[in-house]
Amino acid sequence: MNPTEKIQLLADLVAIQSVNDHEAEVADYLSQVFAKHDIATHQIEYAPGRANLVAEIGQGNPVTVFSGHADVVAAGGDWDTDPFVLTEKNGKLYGRGACDMKSSLAAMVIAMIDLKESQTPLPGTVRFLLTVGEEVGEYGAEQLTNQGYMDDATALIIGEPTGYQICYAHKGSLDVQIEAKGKVAHSSMPQLGNNAVQNLLELLTIINQRMSQVHATDPATGDFLFNFTVLSGGDQVNSIPGTATVALNARTIDEFDNAAVLDTIQSAVNQLQHQASKYQFDVRVLMNLPPVDGQAENQLVKRGQQVGEQVSGHPISTFGGTYTTDAAKFLVNQAADFPFMIFGPGNQSLHSANEYIDKQMYFNFIDIYRQLMLNNGVTTNH
Ligand SMILES: [Zn+2]
Repeated sequence: MNPTEKIQLLADLVAIQSVNDHEAEVADYLSQVFAKHDIATHQIEYAPGRANLVAEIGQGNPVTVFSGHADVVAAGGDWDTDPFVLTEKNGKLYGRGACDMKSSLAAMVIAMIDLKESQTPLPGTVRFLLTVGEEVGEYGAEQLTNQGYMDDATALIIGEPTGYQICYAHKGSLDVQIEAKGKVAHSSMPQLGNNAVQNLLELLTIINQRMSQVHATDPATGDFLFNFTVLSGGDQVNSIPGTATVALNARTIDEFDNAAVLDTIQSAVNQLQHQASKYQFDVRVLMNLPPVDGQAENQLVKRGQQVGEQVSGHPISTFGGTYTTDAAKFLVNQAADFPFMIFGPGNQSLHSANEYIDKQMYFNFIDIYRQLMLNNGVTTNH
C-alpha cells in the first residue's frame, strides 16, 4: 500500500464511531478490506452490532497472534478538530482512536496485506484477532479464547499504544459490588428496621483495616492497589435505609492476586454474619481480570526490541504496565512463559481530547509488524 492508502485506511477506521460498542462496523469494514486482498475472514458475533473478527495468512505452525480492540472511549473533552475525522497537523494524525488503538489495527492489517500481496513465504500462520469490549471488561478476548482461537497460538502481540517501548507484564483488575440488605423503617422507630448503611459501614471498616495491612509489590508492575470507588445507600434522611451498596476496584499482582482480595472480602462478610443475623450482604464480582506476569527476557520481546530499534532508530526499553489488556483473557490457559508482549504505536494522548498518533510512528509500526510476522524470534521446542 502507498502512504495515501495507509492514511486512508486509518481515517476510515477513525470515522467509525465504535464508542464502547458498534464494533461490528469495524469488523465489517476490515472484512471488506481483507476480502479485496484475497484474505478470508470470519466474524464471531458477541451481541447484535458487536462482532469480533479473525483473519489469517500463511498456514500451519507456529501461530503468531496479533490482536487489538475495535472499541474506543467516548470523544469527550475539548477537541480542536472533529474527533471522528482524521486530521493531519505537523506530522501528527488527530482523531479518537488514532492512538488507542486504530493505528495499531491498521498497521497489523496493512502488514498482513503487504505480505499476502508480495507472496512472501511465512514461517507459519499469522492470525489477526479483532476484539470487542476491551475498554469495559475484555468480553471479546474472553469469547475468542473460549472458542479456541488461542489454543494453538505460539506467541501473542497486543498492539496497545506503548510507543517505542515494550510492555511484558501488567496488573490484573477486579471490580466487586457489595450490597447490604436491611429493612426500611421510620427513623423514630429504628428497632422495626435494619440499617443497611450502618451494617455496610461496619463491613467496610473491617475490609479497609485488612486491606491497609497489605503491602505487596511486584518487581515488574509495582504496588497492589485497592480502592472503594462508589458508595450509595438510603433515600430519605428520616428513614432507616433498607439497602446500601459499595463498589470497589483492586489492581492486583501475583503477590496479592484476585483470589486473595475476594478471600479478604468474604472472610469479613463471614465474620459479621456469624455475629448476628442482621448482617446480610450480597457480594457480586463485576469484572475479574488476572495479572499477566510475563518476562522481559523472552525471545519475542528481544526480537521486538531488535526490529523496533532497527526500524525506528530509537532504543526500545521494556516495562511492566499498571493497566490491564485483553492479554488477561487471552493467556488464561497458557503457560507462565508463553511468549507475549504489548507493543504498538502510541503515546500519552490516549483517552484524552486531541488524541493523536505520530505519522512516522504509524508507518514504522507497519514495518515492525511485517518483520515480526516474518520472524518473531520464538524458537518453538515444545
Ligand atoms: Zn486500548
